[in-house]
Formats: sequence, C-alpha cells, structure tokens
Amino acid sequence: MRIVFFIPPPASPDHPLLGVASLVSIAVKMGHEVTVFDLNAILYSETYKEKNYWQKESFDCWSEPEYVRNITIYLREKIKCFAERQGSSPEVLAVHVNDTSKDIANICAHEFLKLYPNLKIVAGGPAFFNVPREVVSCGPYNAIICGEGETAFEEWLKNNGVNDRVMIHKNQLESLDDLPIPDFSKFPLDKYARKNVFPIETSRGCTNCCGFCNDVLMWGRRRNKSFLRLYKELELLSCKSRNIHISFCDSLINASKEEFKKLLQLLSGFNISWDGMVQVEGIDSEIADMMSVCGCKDVFIGVETFSRKFLKKINKAARTDNSVKVVQQLAKAGIKPSIGLIIGGYPFQSRSDFEHDLITIKNLAGCLKSVAVNPLCIPKGTFLWKQRDKFGLHHLDGPKGWKFWQGPNGFADIENRYSWCLEASEKLIEYGIQGSANYTHAVNYFKMIMGEARDYFVNQAH
Ligand code: SF4
Repeated sequence: MRIVFFIPPPASPDHPLLGVASLVSIAVKMGHEVTVFDLNAILYSETYKEKNYWQKESFDCWSEPEYVRNITIYLREKIKCFAERQGSSPEVLAVHVNDTSKDIANICAHEFLKLYPNLKIVAGGPAFFNVPREVVSCGPYNAIICGEGETAFEEWLKNNGVNDRVMIHKNQLESLDDLPIPDFSKFPLDKYARKNVFPIETSRGCTNCCGFCNDVLMWGRRRNKSFLRLYKELELLSCKSRNIHISFCDSLINASKEEFKKLLQLLSGFNISWDGMVQVEGIDSEIADMMSVCGCKDVFIGVETFSRKFLKKINKAARTDNSVKVVQQLAKAGIKPSIGLIIGGYPFQSRSDFEHDLITIKNLAGCLKSVAVNPLCIPKGTFLWKQRDKFGLHHLDGPKGWKFWQGPNGFADIENRYSWCLEASEKLIEYGIQGSANYTHAVNYFKMIMGEARDYFVNQAH
C-alpha cells in the first residue's frame, strides 16, 4: 500500500518524532511505499508563526477556535501542494495526534479525504494514550490506535485496515528489543530546528510515581532495551554523520545508578554528544564527571521544588538537599542543567515554600542553564487526582480540570497559583536565568492563562 505518515502542528520541531520513525520502519519492512509529510516541521521552517508558537507553553493556542479558523486555508493549500507533488494516490494516511493538535488533525484529515475519497485514515499518538471511547468521534478516522502503537499498527496493516471505526489497543511490548530500529530516512531532515539531532529511547516508563505525573498510566511498568540493542542503534546513527547528537526521549535515563553507569560506559565508545532527562537520585560527582566525559551537553532535571514539605505532598521521591548538590556537581562537571519548577500554591505549597524556592534558585543562578516554570497540573487518574477529597480539590473533572483545578478557596487558588507563576517568571528575569520560553513570552503566557481561567468558569457556569 502507499502510506503517508502525516504530522500536523503543533508538535516539537526539534527533530523527527521517534514514534513515527518506528512505525515508518515497520511499514517499510512490510514492503509498503512510505512518504512522511511533516507539516509541523515545514510550517516551523517556513516561519508560519514566530518560533515561540512551537514552545510547549504555546501549544494550547493551536486549538483556539480563532487560531484554527485562520490556519485552515493555509493547511488546505499545503495539503493541495503535497498532493500535486505525489505521483499516485495514497491508500493510507497515518496521522500523529497529540492533545493540542486534535482540531487541526481533524481538519487536515477531512481535506485529505476531499482529495482522496477512498483513503483509509488511522490515527495514533499521545492524544490517544489513555482515552475514553468518545475520541472515536474526534475525526474521520477509520481506526484509532491507543497506547503503544507498533504491534497494533503492524496488525492493522496486515489486515489491510479492514477493522474500521475501532479503537485498537494492544498490550504493551514485553521486550523493547522487539521494536524496529527507527527509520529517519523519509523525514525532511533539513526542516527541523536542531540539525543532525536524532531521538532515541533506552526505556519506556518510569520507576517513580510522582503525584501529578501520568507517565505510569501511559507506559505502565518500566521496560529497558538491552545494551546490545542500544549499541546497534547507536552504531547505525553514528554512521550517518560525524557530528551526530542524540536526544534521549526516556522519561528519565537514570532510573538505576548501576544501569546508568553502564549506559555511560556504552556512550563513551561513540563520538557523539547527547541530552536527556535525569532524576537527582543516583547522581554524584563521579557520575557527573562520567556524563561530561562521554558527551553530555544538556540535561533536564524535574526538581519541581526545593521544599521538602511540598515534595512530600506531591509524592516526589527526591530529597531537597540532593537537588542543590546535584545541580552544583553537574555545573562543576561542565553541564549546566535545566530544571523544572512546579508552582502548586494552596493547599499544596505555602508562601514560605515558594519563597524558599525562589531564594534557592537565585543562589544557584550561576549553575543553571534554565528554569521551566510550570503550574501544578493534575491529570485524571494520577495520585493527586485520587487524593482530591483529602486536599479538598474541586473542578478536577471538567474538560480543563487538570489545569484549572480549585482548592478549598475556590477560584482564588487558581489566581494565586498563576500569579506565583508570573512572579517566578519575573524573578528569573531579575536573576538573569533563562526561562523555558523567552522571558516576555512566559510572562504574557501566564497573564493569558489567567484570562482563560476566568472565561472557562464563566462558560462552565452557563
Ligand atoms: S515526574 Fe518524572 S520522575 Fe516523576 S513519575 Fe513522572 S517521569 Fe517519573
């Protein structure tokens, strides 16, 4: 079959998407004719909008009705141009969908159908990881693959896409070594924000269970690739070019200190640079030095807070004294880490907890690359979501309850939470520390979110 893999915006423009590259590999191996149409990367490279629209903080904009209306004509043109360049009609469109690209993906799928009425459309991606059955109505899809897609997609292709209008949900793979080696050859590599950067995963899932995180719900128990398999992948990637950079997509790459040491030893045999997400547990000066020697250029640490009380309430395993030490050790080894800072406000975090975080960050300014300020979100099914009665939380079950949850003080808790986010973003400017987005944008973003929260509750009331 002729299959088009389609990636609508918004998605990360940094490098090809790993999940799609795995599915491409499966389809190619099965003898299908494959094209990748990464409209997200194309729009990014053509600067359809300023680059900060592709920062995670801005992804919500892409589902605002006015924004979607404005982009529709543009999408139609792009799809038409793509169709004109295609020789024969595709038979299958495989669409990657995340929570913020649902509306645009839906519009695009309809546009494809106008051009190719017999097209079979299969959708998958983060939007469908843990979803109720009503998502079937969110686009003209013949099938929706929920959860890990590799096995289900392969089966769907084997059946020539006959099981129409069903959500296919396969159990998670037992061994990640059974995954195909991702195929990046079909992607528009010159269109990505970071050139010569390829994603790779050593594992799926996390060993921790932080109260606000739905990683466990998404991935289930943590599974690792064998070192032999990783060696093979790294060898193939490092053959591509001399200046290869690997971006590890794992939830965290150092779940166990011993395993991480082995990974670092493996990496030291390749002339590559890399980045990834780590936890503070298990990092000491020896590990920090090893990371630096074997090509680590950037790490992100989900520190969340330096307050022991707040950490305990959100069920984060890390110890506060560790976090400060680890940031300093990494900086000493030449790797200035980026960290995540969570603002929870009442009933999780007191004003003094918050101020303690700001002072600690100020003191660490010389060691940090950036700080990503995030309000505490509580997705459905997480530990905190289950504890909502204990904490007196309200409005968790509305469509935007995960971000506009209220504590015992009602709307005042939302205002408090977001005004602290704003305050923290302004403090970062004062301390000369980079935010995850650029300063002005983060400040505007939190102001905009507060307006959105007010509109949301006015609409909910009607
Ligand atoms: S926040 Fe990070 S460390 Fe905690 S459960 Fe999620 S992925 Fe694991």
